[in-house]
Amino acid sequence: MHELDLKQNLRLRRFYMAVATYVACGLLVQGCAWLGYMPAWVPVWWAFGFGLVNLALFLIFRFGWNLMVRDPSLTEAQLLVSMFAVMVLVYNAVEARGTFLMLFPVPLLFGVLRLRVHQMARVGAVGLVGYAGVIGLLLRNHPDRVLLPVELMNLLALAGVMGFVCLMGGYISRVRAELSRSLLTIRDMAQHDSLTGVFNRRHLIETMRHQVMRCERNLCHGFALCMIDLDHFKRINDTLGHPVGDEVLVAVAKRIGDSIRAVDYLARYGGEEFVVLVEGSSIETALTVCERMRVGIADLLLPALGALPIRVSIGLAAYVAGDSDATLLERADRSLYLAKKAGRNCIHVEA
Ligand code: GH3
Ligand code: MG
Ligand code: MG
Repeated sequence: MHELDLKQNLRLRRFYMAVATYVACGLLVQGCAWLGYMPAWVPVWWAFGFGLVNLALFLIFRFGWNLMVRDPSLTEAQLLVSMFAVMVLVYNAVEARGTFLMLFPVPLLFGVLRLRVHQMARVGAVGLVGYAGVIGLLLRNHPDRVLLPVELMNLLALAGVMGFVCLMGGYISRVRAELSRSLLTIRDMAQHDSLTGVFNRRHLIETMRHQVMRCERNLCHGFALCMIDLDHFKRINDTLGHPVGDEVLVAVAKRIGDSIRAVDYLARYGGEEFVVLVEGSSIETALTVCERMRVGIADLLLPALGALPIRVSIGLAAYVAGDSDATLLERADRSLYLAKKAGRNCIHVEA
C-alpha cells in the first residue's frame, strides 16, 4: 500500500480510538445524570455535540481534507476540543466532579503518540488554565459547591500529573524519532551494497520481480538485463591487494552509474559482477548503453592500478513474455559466458 494511504489509515484508526473514548465517557455522563449528579441536558449535549464534531472529523479524514494543513493528524486540535469537553463536564458534575477530573490527562495520553513535548505542554497548560477557570466560574455561580482549598489541591495534583505525562511524552517522542531513524538506516542497509553504495542483490531481485509483474500486465514497454563482469579481476587483487581491488569496484560502480539513464537501474550482483536493467523494448538502446559502459570503464584512470587495465565483459538479454527474474538472469549469465569465451572486453547479445 502507498505510504500516504498507510498514514491516513493510521490516522483513521487513532480517530476511531478517540471516538470509542468519547462513547465510554458518554456512558459515564449518562450514568451520572441518572444518579442525579449531572444535569439531564449534558448527556444529550454530549451525544449530539460530539456526534457532530466526530462526524465532521470522520469526513475530513475520509476525504483527505486534513492533508491540506501542516499537521494532517490534527492531533492538537482534537486534544483541545476534548479538553474543552472535559471542562464542561467538570463544571456541571455536582458531587461527581472528581470522576471527571480524572479525565483531564486522557487527551494528553493520546498526544503522547504524536506530539512533541512543547505541544504537549501547550495542551496541558490549556487544561490547567481551563480547570482554574472552571473553579473561578463555580465560585461565582455556585459557591456552595466549591471548597476552595480542596480545589486548589486538585489543581496542584493535576499540574503534577500533566507535567509527568508531558515528560513521558517527550521521552517517548525522542525514542520514536530514534526508532524511525534506525528504521531508515536498516532499510538502507538492507537494500544497498556497503562497498559501492549501489543497490544489492536482494533489491535487484525484488526490483526484477516488480518489473516482470508490470510487463505481464502491459504496464511497461519491456526491459533488458546487462550482466557486467570485470575481466581478470582476480589478477588485480593478487598483484595489488584487496584494497586496490575494492577501489576498482567503487570506481567501476560509479562509472556505470554515470553511464546509464535516470530510468535505468544498477545493482551489484555479487563479487565483481554488476547488473544493469535498461528500460524499454529496444535491444539497440540497451546495446548502446552497454557499449557506453564498456568504453567508460576502460577509460578509467586509477593511479593505484599502474599499467593494469580495467576491462569488462557484458552479457545482454532482453525480457520476453513468460520470463521470470531467474530465467532472465540465467540467459544474461549465458550471454556473459559467451562474451568471456569470445575473448573478453566485449558485449554478447543473446540471439
Ligand atoms: P574472469 O575474467 O573470468 O571474470 O576472471 P576474474 O578473475 O574476474 O574472475 P574470478 O571469478 O576468478 O575472480 C573474481 C574475484 O573477485 C575473486 C574475488 O576474490 C574477487 N572479489 C569478489 N568480491 C570482492 C570484493 O568485494 N573486493 C575485492 N577486492 N575483491 C573481490
Ligand atoms: Mg565473476
Ligand atoms: Mg570477472
